[in-house]
Amino acid sequence: MYKKSALEIKELFIHKKKSSVEIIKYFLKRIEKYDPQIKSFIEVYNERALKKAKELDQRLKENKPIGKLASIPIAIKDNILIRNENCTCASKFLKNYKAPYNASVIELLEKEDAIIIGKTNLDEFAMGSSGENSSFFVTKNPWDLSCTPGGSSSGSAASVAARLVPISLGTDTGGSIRQPAAFCGIIGHKPTYGRVSRYGLVAFGSSLDQIGPFTTNTLDAALVMEVLGSKCEMDATSLHLPNETYLENLNKDLKSKKIGIPFHFLENLNPSTKKNFDESIEVFKKLGADIVDINLDILKYSIAVYYILATAEASTNLARFDGIRYGVRSKNAKSIEEVYELSRDEGFGKEVKRRIILGSYVLSSSHQDAFYKKASKVRSLIINAYNEAFEKCDFILMPTSPTTSFKLNSIQDPVSMYLQDLFTISVNLSALPATSVPSGFDSENKPFGIQIIGPQMHDVNVIKYANIFERKLSIFNKIPPMFDKE
Ligand code: GLN
Repeated sequence: MYKKSALEIKELFIHKKKSSVEIIKYFLKRIEKYDPQIKSFIEVYNERALKKAKELDQRLKENKPIGKLASIPIAIKDNILIRNENCTCASKFLKNYKAPYNASVIELLEKEDAIIIGKTNLDEFAMGSSGENSSFFVTKNPWDLSCTPGGSSSGSAASVAARLVPISLGTDTGGSIRQPAAFCGIIGHKPTYGRVSRYGLVAFGSSLDQIGPFTTNTLDAALVMEVLGSKCEMDATSLHLPNETYLENLNKDLKSKKIGIPFHFLENLNPSTKKNFDESIEVFKKLGADIVDINLDILKYSIAVYYILATAEASTNLARFDGIRYGVRSKNAKSIEEVYELSRDEGFGKEVKRRIILGSYVLSSSHQDAFYKKASKVRSLIINAYNEAFEKCDFILMPTSPTTSFKLNSIQDPVSMYLQDLFTISVNLSALPATSVPSGFDSENKPFGIQIIGPQMHDVNVIKYANIFERKLSIFNKIPPMFDKE
């Protein structure tokens, strides 16, 4: 069953070829058997999942209505709230934090009868590009256990790549869905900002954060987006748009579509990434698309802009973790000041502290104009550059990441790690939708991904173009050899 897509698993259930309990027991067993090798889950909901499965079996027996995601096991990144369950953000600070309410995405999934099977590992508070900033343990890449699955949604990507679940949710503030999807050889969709509700997501950079799906194929990504892409009264930045129909828009062709490529910006690509990217362009050409050169040179500033704006927003958002309202309170504190200071000092990891300090610095009254305001202006220029580019093309193509997955512990310097996001970050700064789709393998059998970026609100089209490419390349059913067995 692990080879099946989410849509196929649902069919098995609806046509009574497998009961929901059988499906869930199968995936729970797979998690038990294989997760110790990759460590993608922080928590597995055996009881909760089986309870829901039994309910679904009963409902089917009684011919009662069944939702769009019936009996599909889904894993959730552990920075999304599920009522009465722990939500740790992979931080020691929130080790014992229980969520008092459901994120809107959880409500939507459960309303459509998805079965939430557990919580996945991440870089602490979603800050990182390799998963190594989790305060609990490091998740490994199912294609090569000595390499990173990417980050920050490390566990969500690795669990789908190893087929421990057909679908997971991740979050993307600067690339955390697309980069791990590329490193793990699966689909990752970062929705248009505001398309998916952020209510119940622990905030990192509120003007950048989006929740989105990891799947093994684009049809499943379309299915999840049909459910999640919904207006939400609880999120002030939610788009006031009706749900879209993704699935019926697939199976189209690319004739006379224009693909923009920022050739100059991509001039210094690493040779093997360049080779794969050039081959991907050829695939699109064969599919009938025309290539146009676009100018996105301004993207060279995107990392600098992001690490000012995202840290400013993070330092503000993380101020609520004070050991009083949220988080583990320091036992060593002797005064109220010490409660704040020591709880934060003992609770947060190194990278989170670095971001809080950076963010407080760029927001300080003496430096605000030089950093925060200037970065906001450059952000507008990046948005304008994309708008101009989209006047010339239907979508933009870029590699998702500068390289394939790198070895764990190989990048120690924070700035080198930040540079990993060179191709993903500007998409968040500009609120655009983008899908990372597998595009081949390097000489060590590690996956490449390319990124299809569309204008705002073009989520349906972006997934449609990814689907056309995926069908042509037909590598989506490749499974990491170590996990390609029962
Ligand atoms: N790697 C980026 C960072 O560390 C992006 C993280 C994310 O998208 N959550 O900020």
